[in-house]
Amino acid sequence: MTRIGQGYDVHRLAEGRKLILGGVEIPYERGLLGHSDADVLTHAVMDALLGAAALGDIGCHFPDSDPAYAGADSLALLDQVMQLLHAEGWQVENVDATILAQRPKLAPYLGGMADHLAAHMGVELGQVNVKATTEEGLGFTGSGEGMAAYAVCLLTKE
Ligand code: MG
Repeated sequence: MTRIGQGYDVHRLAEGRKLILGGVEIPYERGLLGHSDADVLTHAVMDALLGAAALGDIGCHFPDSDPAYAGADSLALLDQVMQLLHAEGWQVENVDATILAQRPKLAPYLGGMADHLAAHMGVELGQVNVKATTEEGLGFTGSGEGMAAYAVCLLTKE
């Protein structure tokens, strides 16, 4: 059996926050604001995985009203998502994700993000792709108000 999933997430950029994408800390004057570490890429990937398995979304598994998830490392949450998937016999076939950000230049960090995501999903690097694009100065990512991420995945089980 094969199932497709998609995920989408947005976080606002704010002063005094670390910028963490795919578990990589990126030097920048601002970071993403959120209850957890606000790793918008990992959040989109988790929602794609949960969606493909028909297991809801990260909001229901890790509510931002729960103090347990304050400042949470999103890769640790991805580990929990993988436990849920494995408990139901799902394996990740591939993940493809796109970050929408005007600045900073993310190209030097994309490989590191894919490394982290692959390691935490227990798959080979060749099964994970992370891309980044600007939106040509348009909209909330273009103005630097925030960043967004899309992800799709395929899951398989016997
Ligand atoms: Mg989020």
